[in-house]
Amino acid sequence: MVIKNKLIQQTVLLLAVLSVTDLFAENSKAYINGSIHTFDENLTVADSILVKDGIIQRVGSQADVLDNTDESTEIINLQGRMMMPSFHDAHAHPIWNGMDFLQCSVFDLLSINAIQERIRDCLEEDHVKTSGWVIGAGLNAGLFPAANPNKSLFDEVSKDIPIYIEMSDGHNALVNTKALELAGINKETKDPFKGIIERDPVTGEPSGTLREPSAMNLVADVLPTETPELRLNGLLYAQSLASSFGITSMIDAAVNEAYLISFRELAERGELNLRVTACIEYGRQHYVQEFSGFEDIYKRRSEFEHARINSNCVKIFIDGVLEGQTGAILEPYLDSGSYGQLYFTQDELNNAIASFDANGTQVMTHAIGDRAVRSVLDAYQHAIETNGISNNKHHISHLQLIHEDDIPRFSELNISANFQAAWALPDEWITEINIPELGIERVNRMYPIRSIHDAGGTIVGGSDWAVTTMNPLIAIETAVTRQDPSNRVEGTLNEKERMDLTEMLKAYTINAAEVMHQGDLTGSIEVGKFADLIILERNLYEIPLMEVGEVRVIETVLEGTTVFRID
Ligand SMILES: [Zn+2]
Repeated sequence: MVIKNKLIQQTVLLLAVLSVTDLFAENSKAYINGSIHTFDENLTVADSILVKDGIIQRVGSQADVLDNTDESTEIINLQGRMMMPSFHDAHAHPIWNGMDFLQCSVFDLLSINAIQERIRDCLEEDHVKTSGWVIGAGLNAGLFPAANPNKSLFDEVSKDIPIYIEMSDGHNALVNTKALELAGINKETKDPFKGIIERDPVTGEPSGTLREPSAMNLVADVLPTETPELRLNGLLYAQSLASSFGITSMIDAAVNEAYLISFRELAERGELNLRVTACIEYGRQHYVQEFSGFEDIYKRRSEFEHARINSNCVKIFIDGVLEGQTGAILEPYLDSGSYGQLYFTQDELNNAIASFDANGTQVMTHAIGDRAVRSVLDAYQHAIETNGISNNKHHISHLQLIHEDDIPRFSELNISANFQAAWALPDEWITEINIPELGIERVNRMYPIRSIHDAGGTIVGGSDWAVTTMNPLIAIETAVTRQDPSNRVEGTLNEKERMDLTEMLKAYTINAAEVMHQGDLTGSIEVGKFADLIILERNLYEIPLMEVGEVRVIETVLEGTTVFRID
């Protein structure tokens, strides 16, 4: 606090004595003696760069850059360290999940005891004492057969305090008996549209697991109201995490009006350290945006535009997830014979996407199963046939299963493949859930990143935080090894889909910048672009691939300003 006040005083003083040009000169920085991977078209590696007023002025040799400095330029010696464009996270939920981390977070807990222990601790925390509810997220579905935990897990912790914890995939939740009672969910309650209330096979009583938003939202009405303050604090939590991982641009993959207001508020205060594409959720099932209110928000989307916020994007969920069998697949689930579910008929989807496309709005979609992927590719194709080729840069996220006939279509239709590469390893989601329900042949085709790339498709990278870590380097290591970066689980998932390091770094920089409609402003280190940069502890090209995920970002620069540094 003291330091901050001093800085403010100094700035006032400077403003008093310096002309505008001098102030710009104040912002001049030369980074010299580095291994600067520019990710320009030729993948140039430079020694030095000059930045003025947040914009890259020169990229080249140390002599050339130093020739263009003056006495006000701050010279930063990189001491041979690797510098590169800062990361873009093309799929995250900074507000939705940021709030979870301020409540009862059980992310990364790998035993039932640890989860119960954590929830017991939550009972003593202020947020529970004030609201009377334990609300949280991060439950690992892979710990339970068929991803179907029972309410007894939470009843053992409390019978009096209602407990609602979402699974880390965001598509399922577990509640205790008290929460079911308060929400009035009982034996007689019918499954809602496109949702599942799991039940005891003998008694028919709800067993605690609620699948997909329409079922999860049966509890929403009795949950304590979310406050603007909580949303803003959640966003600040996510933003500081992003800065620490070298992320300066992010696609929020499902927003409502309240989230847009939070982004705008932080931007207007001058404290938004992320360039954001905010995709407004559209769909009859809803996570954050009520379907009934969609048209109104969509019409007013430009009200939320800001130099750092692009709100001309819509997010559509095409299907659910494979755990819980709501993901839509072409061949049935082995145990149940079910084909999963699509949230739209083909006509509905075709019409929706064609009309957004005609309005010049980007459409980001969630598709997990091969039937969902085909359906949404068909809809994008229909939009091209109706409107002609656009520059709207539509993209599909997740892509767990893709039929081989559909792999070339990403390139043909110019649809980017937005992968969450941190999922492409044989962890318990794969071994305990996917192999039993789909069989090994389909599991061995999952997350075909290399196949799409080799067929000419554009790969972009995103975390889907908080489903998995926001750290891009962990996802990148997983994409190049298809193994667990933490070595907790053994084995390789579908070795032939291993990607190149450079291609994955492009997925998190220039490719994602293009998808965010800012490829001429960020994503590579080139003259005239914003100085959105990171400095890494070790050179990613000089270490074994198995160590990429351990490398720390030691400084993150957004538009010439340091937003994170390890001292
Ligand atoms: Zn998501």
